[in-house]
Amino acid sequence: MDNLEKCPTCGSGHFVFKKTHHHFLESGLDNVHLTNVEIGTCANCGEKIVSIPHSTELMKLIGESVLLKPTNLNGAEIRFLRKNLHMKINDFAQLLGVDRVTVSRWENGHEKPSRSVDRLVRLTYAVEANIPEPTMEQLRRNLRNEEVDTKVDYFVPIPLAS
Ligand SMILES: [Zn+2]
Repeated sequence: MDNLEKCPTCGSGHFVFKKTHHHFLESGLDNVHLTNVEIGTCANCGEKIVSIPHSTELMKLIGESVLLKPTNLNGAEIRFLRKNLHMKINDFAQLLGVDRVTVSRWENGHEKPSRSVDRLVRLTYAVEANIPEPTMEQLRRNLRNEEVDTKVDYFVPIPLAS
């Protein structure tokens, strides 16, 4: 927490630091929890300051976790991936070959993306974010596993001979 010299609330320079976990709502996702985050508490007024170091790297790591999520991406996750690529809706829509309204509807949860759209979003992110090879390899495995997990078996009775 090198950049923090004075409390923004009271101007005091005395902080007590503690490492703890942090529910990282600032990420735009409601299910990200950071561990070992340094929290500074102002010794004078009690204001809490969260220090999140290397945030570009952190956002990339969260992006990879989202990418490897075993179930369908929700709207907030699609928005998170798009923002991680620093893309406007128009540009992201162009890459995916859909119109911007469609992307907005996914992100706002007004429309559930199909399974192939879900995969297209993941693969587009993987290419654009230039994810590391081990993550790419895991994504490849996930894409194959999902086929197996969602395989539908048809139980068809044999017609009786007439
Ligand atoms: Zn203070």
